[in-house]
Amino acid sequence: MIQRVAVVGAGTMGAGIAQLCAQAGFSVKVFDSFPQTLADLPARLKSSLDSAVLRSKLTTSQAERAFQSVSPVQALADLAGADLVIEAASEDLELKRAIFSELDEVCPDAILATNTSSLSVSAIAEAVKTPERLLGIHFFNPPVVMKLVEMVRGAKTSPEVFQGAWDFVLMGLRKTPVDVKDTPGFIVNRVMRPYYLEGQRLGLAGAAISSVDDACRAEGFVPMGPFELMDLIGLDVNLSITKTIYEALGRPERFKPQFPQERLVAAGVVGKKAGRGWYLYEAGKKSGENPEAAALFPREGVLTPREIWVRLSGALAAEAELARSEGVAGKSDIDTAIKLAMNFPKGPFEWQNPSASTAKPAR
Ligand code: NAD
Repeated sequence: MIQRVAVVGAGTMGAGIAQLCAQAGFSVKVFDSFPQTLADLPARLKSSLDSAVLRSKLTTSQAERAFQSVSPVQALADLAGADLVIEAASEDLELKRAIFSELDEVCPDAILATNTSSLSVSAIAEAVKTPERLLGIHFFNPPVVMKLVEMVRGAKTSPEVFQGAWDFVLMGLRKTPVDVKDTPGFIVNRVMRPYYLEGQRLGLAGAAISSVDDACRAEGFVPMGPFELMDLIGLDVNLSITKTIYEALGRPERFKPQFPQERLVAAGVVGKKAGRGWYLYEAGKKSGENPEAAALFPREGVLTPREIWVRLSGALAAEAELARSEGVAGKSDIDTAIKLAMNFPKGPFEWQNPSASTAKPAR
């Protein structure tokens, strides 16, 4: 039974995971090796909880209780006694291994979880004497808001540990866990890759950037097309995930990074955060296609919106089927993951089902 939670790393994800656990009634200790990040944690937490109160997501007393449940600690050794440790430190295999090797001694009976997005859970687990008790609990950003959690079984994760962590996420945190094998990109980062890459290939085949995005919204009823989404994520962050998965899967042609994105990233044109990506932004608002991005595509304009969407959804569906056939996850977990992570009305298998309704879903 998990009662005391520890979080390692108090950055974007660690702070969010600590807040989520505290809001769910767990007592949470947080360690970060960077003293200023740890010192700032209470102020960041307070500001986030205050904003939840303003948006009527929490009452003042719930926010106060959550705030009191989080204790920053000055050393990893202070996490002793935790039932579950969630590591959300920087994305670096050796760093994570060093943390878990110390946690192995400090918390000999705890379930150990890593929030890694792109590293192998099994490779991280090599750092502990009992890899059976280590798994991936992959939250999405921001953890308080996002319902989806990918639960990643390492090669040696025991069924009991997996079940204990699953129950904690489902019943303790009231999130939606999906069962995933430890493979590059897990479900979401892998199955969504063709959306970004095929989007660019459509551009290279003559479609305009905004035509691709417009077609996705009109034909697929999705909130954002691939170019808008890359701008939001950051072309650099998105490219780095593509490269990691491309390498980890043995450089398959379909995951090959596309030169338009590489060219823009090299020029510092990295999306909304820079004011320039596939589109231009003024005061955070999209103001039209970025001419330097548009110039990378031939713009022959021969594809209809329907053809664009069929190609994109088909590429997603093909990747989803490949992931399923390789045992990454089952059909319904893949559909659930894509819907919850992307706010898509349907998952890739549902899209391929001809009997599925084509009516615009109520949001
Ligand atoms: P971040 O840079 O905001 O935070 C990482 C924190 O780890 C920093 O505060 C750093 O000081 C701390 N840290 C580094 N070494 C440490 C150590 N030895 N001990 C304790 N703390 C240490 O990064 P983030 O975006 O919060 O990502 C953290 C993890 O979550 C990564 O593994 C990342 O892949 C994963 N993740 C990130 C996102 C996202 O959208 N940012 C989403 C899902 C998963």
